Amino acid sequence: ESKLRLIERHIRAFQNFPKEGILFRDICPILKNPACLTAVMDLLEEHVRNNHQQVDLIVGLDARGFLFGPLLAQRLGVGFVLVRKKGKLPGATVSVAYNLEYGKAEVEVQEDAVTAGQKVLIIDDLLATGGTMHAACELMKKQQAEVLGCMVIVELKDLKGTDRLKDQKVFSLIQY
Ligand code: 5GP
Repeated sequence: ESKLRLIERHIRAFQNFPKEGILFRDICPILKNPACLTAVMDLLEEHVRNNHQQVDLIVGLDARGFLFGPLLAQRLGVGFVLVRKKGKLPGATVSVAYNLEYGKAEVEVQEDAVTAGQKVLIIDDLLATGGTMHAACELMKKQQAEVLGCMVIVELKDLKGTDRLKDQKVFSLIQY
């Protein structure tokens, strides 16, 4: 069985979560199966090693980017930085607001987490509309960091997240 097939078998779909009409892709079974999690990390690491020469930091998005980001950072021998939803990080922070379907959200990073000129890769579990990933890219630009690429386990193609991330390289393992 290929690594991708193994990963695909460990993603479940739930109808009407978190709201009516949404088909939610659940990645929890990946984490429950060590061989599957290893397959995910192997493919992510391989992608980075084949496509990016110098990576300074892995930046993970709240909350499921925190599950995969530190593992990838450890494999690459680089640091990990958290981009959180507003109000969760102590000390001086920088934030970017973005629009949701209903209302607004804000993502935040500690001011000293990323320095100007650093080359970063951003990781999350899933790309839907791309709103969250786009806001994280803006946050990195605010800190004058260079975003080398965006990585996700799952990409929901119909929602055209990559259109929102036109000037970024987006890598996904599984597409629906
Ligand atoms: P976007 O901003 O691209 O519309 O939504 C992506 C963000 O929402 C990600 O942080 C992701 O974790 C979460 N998300 C949205 N839909 C799903 C889904 O179906 N499954 C999972 N696991 N996360 C989702």
